[in-house]
Amino acid sequence: MRLHVVTFGCQMSVADGEELASPLTGRGFTAVAEPADADAIVLNTCTVRQHAEDKAVSFIGRLRDWKEKDPGRVLIVAGCAAERLGPWIQKRFPYVDLVVGAKSIEDYPRIVEEALGARFDALAEARQAFPPETLDKPTGWASPCTAFVTIMRGCNYSCSYCIVPSVRGRELYRPYETVMAEVREKVGRGAKEITLLGQTVNSWNGNEGGARISFPELLRRLGRVEGLERVRFESPHPHFVNDDLIDAMGTTKNICEQIHLPLQSGSDRLLKIMRRNYDAGSILDKTARLRRAMHDIEVSTDIIVGFPSETDEDFERTLDLVRRLRPSWSYTFKYSPREGTESAGMTDDVPEAVKEERLSRLNALCDGLTEEALAARIGKVVDVLDEGGGFGRTRDGFKVSWTGSRPAGRTVKVRVTGTSKRILKGETDDRA
Ligand code: SAH
Ligand code: SF4
Repeated sequence: MRLHVVTFGCQMSVADGEELASPLTGRGFTAVAEPADADAIVLNTCTVRQHAEDKAVSFIGRLRDWKEKDPGRVLIVAGCAAERLGPWIQKRFPYVDLVVGAKSIEDYPRIVEEALGARFDALAEARQAFPPETLDKPTGWASPCTAFVTIMRGCNYSCSYCIVPSVRGRELYRPYETVMAEVREKVGRGAKEITLLGQTVNSWNGNEGGARISFPELLRRLGRVEGLERVRFESPHPHFVNDDLIDAMGTTKNICEQIHLPLQSGSDRLLKIMRRNYDAGSILDKTARLRRAMHDIEVSTDIIVGFPSETDEDFERTLDLVRRLRPSWSYTFKYSPREGTESAGMTDDVPEAVKEERLSRLNALCDGLTEEALAARIGKVVDVLDEGGGFGRTRDGFKVSWTGSRPAGRTVKVRVTGTSKRILKGETDDRA
């Protein structure tokens, strides 16, 4: 039996996709790259921005034919948009077999089994006649040398533009022992790099025998896991980037020189209305301290343009903050009101043409900084974790492809010779 998992959304949703696949892989499903080849599709939806939600909904629409060709096929829609739009999806697309919202993710395996167990049995029987392996184009859900570990769910913040708290609920932390056990298990199976995930990942805390373990302490302990070469985490909230975290990053060898600091805006006035709990000055101060503690750290960011009431001056402040922060990667978004959020009650008063113009000016600036960072690496030798096929990433988050690949899972020294489509190109250099 063949399974296709598709995610429209961020890295966090991609990791959820692996989890959403697990009850099916437990039943013997194997991964295929093409929906057309699949007996079951799990669609993992994100609702943070209107755009991702629209893409998911139109994908469900396109699956009508897939389902009609063979009604034995199973379609599961999960994730944030499923939480928000569940009944509507079920009504609009009656051929969807199961809709499971993001808040139910802990119960997801049971829900799937109860709703679809009998269907899977029938499917397994029907498929026995075929030798599916010949059709399989295995994708694998993750490269085994890099793995994700979700350490918290939900969010206790209430950023005025954001729908996450309402679709994912309050923060829930995975216990310390569980996190460590999952990390060790993944490292035991060959993972060299672990990315810890959560909406405000650095607000995680746990305990051991009643003693509190903070997020920085978790990082320090991951620094002592045998065989774990690289640790990343996403997405930290800038408010919780404190001295202790900066110290843990600077002193723990396997923490990668990379941090995602979602700015959203450079205007203190807007940051206040967005309820972000920091201002531009504190971001610059924290970044300066991070750069002192961790030489060569690269910063990436998220920015929203066209938030209600954003003036030219507010926007200039955003450009100014970006110029000073110099993120190597930026994810930029046009504001879209999300139902039920605080800002949906404000007038969406920045005209579309102005949003477009600001977005393109911002992108020009951010793209220039990315190109500069890429160009600065030409001629250098970088450490790359080989994820297979001559592809991997540097510790500071750049994608690299090179010729003369060695077996996956090894760290290779690659001499960068150029860049193409924002990927560093290079060759292995044994003299390095
Ligand atoms: N938890 C993370 C971000 C989660 S959402 C954090 O606190 O930063 C990912 C990104 O989507 C956000 O950083 C923001 O830039 C963008 N985003 C969220 N809601 C949005 C909206 N209503 N309109 C436009 N962009 C939005
Ligand atoms: Fe949304 Fe803010 Fe929570 Fe991030 S911190 S998920 S932007 S409410």
